[in-house]
Amino acid sequence: MAYLQKLTGAQPLKLRDFDPEFDAGLDKETGEEKLKKLSAELTRQQELLYAAGTHSLLLVLQGRDTSGKDGTIKTVMGPLNSLGCQVASFKVPTAEELAHDFLWRIHQQTPGKGEITIFNRSHYEDVLVVRVHKLVADKVWRARYDHINAFEKLLADAGTIILKFYLHISKDEQEQRLLEREQDATKYWKLSAGDWKERTYWNDYTRAYEDALNRCSTPHAPWFVVPANKKWFRNLAVAETIVSALRPYEKQWREKLEVIGQREKAAIEEFKHSKVTQK
Ligand code: ADP
Repeated sequence: MAYLQKLTGAQPLKLRDFDPEFDAGLDKETGEEKLKKLSAELTRQQELLYAAGTHSLLLVLQGRDTSGKDGTIKTVMGPLNSLGCQVASFKVPTAEELAHDFLWRIHQQTPGKGEITIFNRSHYEDVLVVRVHKLVADKVWRARYDHINAFEKLLADAGTIILKFYLHISKDEQEQRLLEREQDATKYWKLSAGDWKERTYWNDYTRAYEDALNRCSTPHAPWFVVPANKKWFRNLAVAETIVSALRPYEKQWREKLEVIGQREKAAIEEFKHSKVTQK
């Protein structure tokens, strides 16, 4: 069963129509059991993706502060083989990055064939934080939706499977998580006065996210709104969405492996034969 709706841009959305508490009627224990199975399946899928080398997988994670980007990466991607999997985190751009177009630093981090890359924040910051804090002129960020769509189309045409996740928490849940960090000495390192400040822009971010989701959801690079108040459901929903999106590729990846295997077997036979005739 699909837990998340695939947004393809056909219907404009409002975030208030998505319940951050949604859990598909499951309890935590059942959810964690299901996640275990999905993790095993994802690990097998990664092996196929890696070995076939025909596609890459790009996962984009966006969300407000405390929405759980790090936790999702740790839980959902943790079991994957790090050989073909990496995380790219995008922070405030450096002077060198700012001297280039906004996609310059992003393109360098996209996955090669057989690889998985998770974007922890992404090019969407350039129509989110940049818009909310007016870091560039209006017409500059407004033009970026088209640039993003063209860029993602280019990646998709080159064999990149793109899945984009917005981790959706409520304002109350964020407050609770920020307060928890202040109570827990092991979480002090996560404290940031900036998080409280960003929270005052909550409605501006809502508008910016809605525009990004509405303008940049395409069949080849869909967005998914992930109910993220319950961490276990957030993890389950993201894992399920990735596994389901990869299933249709498995057959062609297996066929590709068969072709590679047969080719190498024939090469070995030929080599052995040539050694015998040389004797
Ligand atoms: P995180 O919050 O992701 O764990 P940080 O605390 O280092 O990591 O925050 C990264 C910061 O970089 C965020 O505030 C984010 O909005 C900012 N950032 C990312 N990309 C851009 C960008 N293109 N322009 C301005 N700020 C950006």
